[in-house]
Amino acid sequence: MPEQLSQHEVYLGLGANLANPVAQLQHAIAALRRLPQSKLLAVSALYGSKPMGPQDQPDYVNAVAKVSTTLAPLALLDALQQIEQQQGRQRKAERWGPRSLDLDILLYGHHTIVSERLTVPHYGLTQREFVLYPLAEIAPQLVLPCGTPLQTLLSRIPLNGLEKLSATVCE
Ligand code: ATP
Ligand code: MG
Ligand code: MG
Repeated sequence: MPEQLSQHEVYLGLGANLANPVAQLQHAIAALRRLPQSKLLAVSALYGSKPMGPQDQPDYVNAVAKVSTTLAPLALLDALQQIEQQQGRQRKAERWGPRSLDLDILLYGHHTIVSERLTVPHYGLTQREFVLYPLAEIAPQLVLPCGTPLQTLLSRIPLNGLEKLSATVCE
């Protein structure tokens, strides 16, 4: 695990499809601005996307944020899960079911982390259009820890109905 007090550039994936998802993401961004030992550096536009897994659920709203932090990875995960709880996240047995807010750690600097609670880079990063396109908006030159440029991944993954929304994170 990386040292606790060094600065790390972290990318976070945000998603919601319940209880006014646009407002959920706006609240989540406000919460990320208050994250301890951290600074919010960039936020993508909000995107509308089709659900993964069970299709009998509303479309999603997604975004990606870039944060600089001295929080260790598990401390960051704790803080993100606390924000999810504060915004009414209920974890159910069903995988990829509807939720008021999901906050995932996509990248933590160039670190690779495999532990019981945390896998970084996030395992879905390379396959999910609702992660790759917002990420490319704020970090077009990004290269993953494995050495693959983000642009290479983008060229392989279709939009699958992903669309940029007119709502902004500042409203
Ligand atoms: P997916 O992981 O496929 O996006 P999900 O986000 O809906 O699904 P959650 O219910 O939010 O899954 O999280 C399940 C568990 O995943 C969490 O309790 C957490 O410990 C673990 N986890 C592992 N890696 C990560 C990561 N990179 N970011 C967030 N949670 C992670
Ligand atoms: Mg997720
Ligand atoms: Mg999650």
